[in-house]
Amino acid sequence: MGSYDVLFLSGVVSVVLSVVTAVDIARDRRRPAWAWGLAGLLAPLVAPVLVWLMPPNPRYYEDCPHCRMLMHKSASACPHCTRERSA
Ligand SMILES: [Zn+2]
Repeated sequence: MGSYDVLFLSGVVSVVLSVVTAVDIARDRRRPAWAWGLAGLLAPLVAPVLVWLMPPNPRYYEDCPHCRMLMHKSASACPHCTRERSA
């Protein structure tokens, strides 16, 4: 295996890693995973950082009225301060 092969292989590995990481973070932030997977393919190493910097989708998250931490909209109690949402 020549040095070019090693370079190519590490390139492929980093692209695959960035796609997997971008999809994983996008799922976590409730962002479209397929779009971020594509972004990870087109912009390796950049896309995972970008999606990581993005705030969670406000369609699914809101601030806890008590501690101001993010909580899922369908959650009945805050995962941070464990207080129940007041209607
Ligand atoms: Zn809270």
